[in-house]
Amino acid sequence: MPAALVTGGGRGIGRAVAIRLARDGFDVAIGYRSDAEAAASAAAEIEAAGAAAVAFGADVADAHAAATLVGSAEEALGPLDAVILNAGITRDGLAVRMSAEDFSAVVDTNLTGAFHVARPALRGMLRRRRGSIVAVSSVVGLTGNVGQANYAAAKAGLIGLVRSLAREAGGRGVRVNAVAPGYVATDMTAVLSDEQRGAILGATPLGRLGEPDDVADACAFLCSAAASFMTGSVLAVDGGLAMGA
Ligand code: NAP
Repeated sequence: MPAALVTGGGRGIGRAVAIRLARDGFDVAIGYRSDAEAAASAAAEIEAAGAAAVAFGADVADAHAAATLVGSAEEALGPLDAVILNAGITRDGLAVRMSAEDFSAVVDTNLTGAFHVARPALRGMLRRRRGSIVAVSSVVGLTGNVGQANYAAAKAGLIGLVRSLAREAGGRGVRVNAVAPGYVATDMTAVLSDEQRGAILGATPLGRLGEPDDVADACAFLCSAAASFMTGSVLAVDGGLAMGA
């Protein structure tokens, strides 16, 4: 069976991606930061779908922990064919009031953390001349957003990272892409006020929030043979919110 690693795979979008990849025939390693219970329940759901599953706690902002995560996943499941760089956090606030710590924490997890996981995974993929990496960026990385200078900078940075890795790895047949979800119903967006939610729905042509499965479908597509001529692309999964950005 091919093997996949999904960071932040215990909850929200990552969980949906992990389960979807299992249904597509991947054995799946889940990375989580602190919610071991959620990761274990995602692993149980993957096993129920007939695939092997393992879960490892690792803070992706820590380069050593991220490399250990990739090593542990490969030791348990074999060489990784797909890696989903999904772990992410928010620490919102207007830029003029944002602390340097809140800016760095979001960049360290959402952008540098993705690099920490991608680097060791890519080494093996380049040697084997196959593999697919998908980073979970955001519409906000394309458009910017009030109160999210840290998050938008990290998500825009992910697009630069993906396009650079795509150029470096393309010659070896390794593909690197991003998805840019709009607002998706997860713990991360559960904190939105009714007013914020109304504004988002009003600006979204399809008139609803995304579901984690919407993003999982796009990630699974990018990891599949159906996307074999796609690399360096940024697939919007946003109900039309950022059209044209
Ligand atoms: P979520 O429900 O809050 O889940 C975030 C996941 O990331 C959790 O599994 C968490 O682990 C993990 N994580 C956070 N920091 C980590 C760290 N330092 N090391 C390892 N894992 C870490 O969020 P979500 O909505 O599913 O978001 C998933 C991704 O999609 C994020 O990158 C987010 O920015 C992006 N995204 C979300 C939306 C949206 O509207 N929800 C839109 C666009 C993009 P624990 O379970 O252990 O806490």
